[in-house]
Amino acid sequence: MFQKIKKIINELIQINNLKTRNKVTNSKIKICPSCTSKLEPLNEQLEWLMPQKYLCKKCNYLGTAYFEQ
Ligand SMILES: [Zn+2]
Repeated sequence: MFQKIKKIINELIQINNLKTRNKVTNSKIKICPSCTSKLEPLNEQLEWLMPQKYLCKKCNYLGTAYFEQ
């Protein structure tokens, strides 16, 4: 009985490891189209309502267009 639980916990840990690994590989860095520095996502909680906007703190660019690195 306990061994079964151990096995399930180990499987859950492995699934979590896979998830975090996928997250890391899927997250590409968004680059500002006007000065090529890193963009900050804006209004993340409204992502499902409108296209995600990005803000550049260096040149104050704000928009939905970006480059991916
Ligand atoms: Zn910029």
